[in-house]
Amino acid sequence: MNLVLLGAPGAGKGTQANIIMQSEGLCALSTGNLLREVAKEDSEKGREIKAILESGAFVSDEIVLDLLKRKLASPECAKGVIFDGYPRTVRQAEMLDELTRVDGVIVLDVPDEVIVDRMAQRRTCPKCQMTYHLTTLPPKTEGVCDKCGTELGIRSDDAPEVVLNRLHVYHEKTEPIISYYRASGREFVIDGTQAPDKVSSDVLAVVEGMK
Ligand code: AMP
Repeated sequence: MNLVLLGAPGAGKGTQANIIMQSEGLCALSTGNLLREVAKEDSEKGREIKAILESGAFVSDEIVLDLLKRKLASPECAKGVIFDGYPRTVRQAEMLDELTRVDGVIVLDVPDEVIVDRMAQRRTCPKCQMTYHLTTLPPKTEGVCDKCGTELGIRSDDAPEVVLNRLHVYHEKTEPIISYYRASGREFVIDGTQAPDKVSSDVLAVVEGMK
């Protein structure tokens, strides 16, 4: 089974992708995480991608598709994939349909003002990229990643002015994808402002219904 998680930055896609991954044994494929790994490299490409990520703009389709294809070919993705952060444009949605079968698309619906507040409270592990929220999803030990013990930080593109730009780009370029998937009956909308446990039980119920 292949699923797409759609929603604004900070809507909870990464968190839900991890939950589905654990429950269903699918692989979570976050293009943002793949790009952040490349951005750490001390190379021209690494520096180029780092600058784009810091601005909140999109990396080219070519670079993203290349990373995506490599990850898709790995054995851990054989059972199925949860796409998080891809597609981000209708063109990318068309490219994904050419590449593989997308069984369902879960849209996490969260209004902008909630996103802005959430991003201000988001903390991320620079090593394994696990995300936390200071109030609703804090780490067990303050400032330390539960999963790998690394000190948590703030992603440079979670700065308030970059978040506003990312939201603008989301509404302009990514939101039209929802109609694209609705037209083929693959879209399920979930209220992403509910308590985290309720969001995951709704998400898992949709996944169950797709089997
Ligand atoms: P994310 O972790 O999904 O919020 O992505 C972080 C950043 O990575 C985005 O703001 C973009 O700069 C870049 N990015 C992630 N996925 C894509 C994509 N599918 N196409 C283009 N750029 C992307």
